[in-house]
Amino acid sequence: MDNALTQEIAEISVAVKDYAAHHQRLERLTYPPGIRLAVNFTADFDAMLLRRLMNEPPMQLAKGEFGGRVGIWRLIELFDSHGVKATIFTPGRICELYPRAVQAAARSGHEIADHMWEHRVPKEPDMERDHLHKTIAALERLTGKRPVGTRSNHSLPLLRDEGFIYVSEGSADHLPYYVSDPTGSARLLNLPFHFAIDDAMFFSFAWMGSGNAAQRITDPDRVEELWWDAFLHQYRQGGYLNICLHPFVSGRALRIAMLDRLIARMKTLPGVWFPSCEELARHVLQTV
Ligand SMILES: [Zn+2]
Repeated sequence: MDNALTQEIAEISVAVKDYAAHHQRLERLTYPPGIRLAVNFTADFDAMLLRRLMNEPPMQLAKGEFGGRVGIWRLIELFDSHGVKATIFTPGRICELYPRAVQAAARSGHEIADHMWEHRVPKEPDMERDHLHKTIAALERLTGKRPVGTRSNHSLPLLRDEGFIYVSEGSADHLPYYVSDPTGSARLLNLPFHFAIDDAMFFSFAWMGSGNAAQRITDPDRVEELWWDAFLHQYRQGGYLNICLHPFVSGRALRIAMLDRLIARMKTLPGVWFPSCEELARHVLQTV
């Protein structure tokens, strides 16, 4: 083996050991009586912030704006019509842009959770803390409730100190599992998702300024079947499903119609639970 490969394998080996030390599987995942599968519908309410961070052109910013003006309202209506409690991961600054939508989601009983202040986690610890504090304050001001979950890579000790109980980030497992910081002092539950169950992978044209090879416009019927199969697979195993949506992507009418059909199909099977991430996390933390 050449030296470069040997070096790479040594680095991967460290990463594997690190994973083993800091990702702890649940001994057993048990749901409330009569429940066979929990489905978390999660929506990342990025609107224009992510697009702006990527320095994208005005057309892309407008796509994000659609998410705030129309998409989020359609998603709230869809979830409410099915009795689904969703989790809306919300950057703090979205509270300045779309306060009524955030309040309406909270009033409908959906969970409003952290998605960073400006959709990024600063490297400087003081600034990172400041961003998290600002987001907590902004969300609490609109909803009356302090967030307990995040979709971000904020440091775990900071999240623990601020009362967070779960993260929903990454796809290193298909079931909820614990993640801990290198010292092992801060341990939070992770509710993982996967990019195969993420609307942006199928429906986002010119996503994040990507080149032609990454243009994605998929027939909604095709996505419905893929996600239905993923759901059935987890249902049979008594597993877990976290469906990641974005209001500017899934808020389009044909995709809302697809999600409406998909949720209706899921509800034809007994024992399907649609809690918020917080509800599921509290259940898991109480039962393991
Ligand atoms: Zn995001």
